[in-house]
Amino acid sequence: MSGLLNGQNVVVMGIANERSIGWGIAKSLHAQGARLIFTYRKERSYEKLAKLLAESGIEPLLTVQCDVSDDASIEAAFGRIGAEAGVVHGVVHSLAFADKDELGGEYVDTSREGYLLAQESSAFSLVAVAKAAKPLMTEGGSIVTQTYLGAERVMRNYNVMGVAKAALEASVRYLAEDLGKYGIRVNAVSAGPIRTLAAKGVSGFNDILNTVEEKAPLRRNVDQSEVGDATMFLISGLSRGITGEVLHVDAGFHIIA
Ligand code: NDP
Repeated sequence: MSGLLNGQNVVVMGIANERSIGWGIAKSLHAQGARLIFTYRKERSYEKLAKLLAESGIEPLLTVQCDVSDDASIEAAFGRIGAEAGVVHGVVHSLAFADKDELGGEYVDTSREGYLLAQESSAFSLVAVAKAAKPLMTEGGSIVTQTYLGAERVMRNYNVMGVAKAALEASVRYLAEDLGKYGIRVNAVSAGPIRTLAAKGVSGFNDILNTVEEKAPLRRNVDQSEVGDATMFLISGLSRGITGEVLHVDAGFHIIA
């Protein structure tokens, strides 16, 4: 099979089920010939992923457990990836976590624990993953994370996660500067709302989908395949001049006042 990513080893982190944005990304990367390495946290996610891979005929190079809130787990996962894959060309960070109780009501009521948990899981995790992947990215490459408009604007109920995404987007810029000299690019995709397991935690999610359908220039929502293709572009050499960028894949919703 010939493709944009032939011979490239790409790590995909954060697939919980067939609705996950990470799964849309994996399919886009696979279609371009990437050799895929998967990480998961919960056993349940591993079982779902294994089933999805079998059903779609995708043969992973490796599947390994990685809890991004645990340094030892990150070290062990990337140690195994290094031992079995050698070089890594791309990393897709498609994960976030916040306590459901913090994703509704007022931001002013955010607890210290809830704030720290969201920041650690959703923003610092990119920094830790970039650090662990860097020694394996000896041929240069690309790191892509997933963010949301709630980083830039106040979106009702997104609260603590909006602040975590703001830190994530700032981290993309600082990491882009640090890793650019090694030929490693760092970018984010800012996806429109998509019904996934994580999205279920945000109060009033249906209203958000309806607003986008009504107001976005394309008058519709986006899906996992569109986010997948844009992420694939940022992983591939087609985007070789782009780093530190946040690319909106949201049917244009972010340009509307
Ligand atoms: P999913 O629930 O499908 O995926 C979230 C993933 O995060 C799961 O695979 C989960 O693994 C993983 N995860 C959470 N905490 C940890 C951890 N400590 N260590 C390792 N993995 C962890 O939701 P999405 O696909 O929607 O989310 C993917 C990314 O896209 C997130 O960053 C999200 O914020 C972002 N995004 C989502 C949008 C949407 O509307 N859905 C819009 C814009 C951005 P496990 O279940 O095994 O714990």
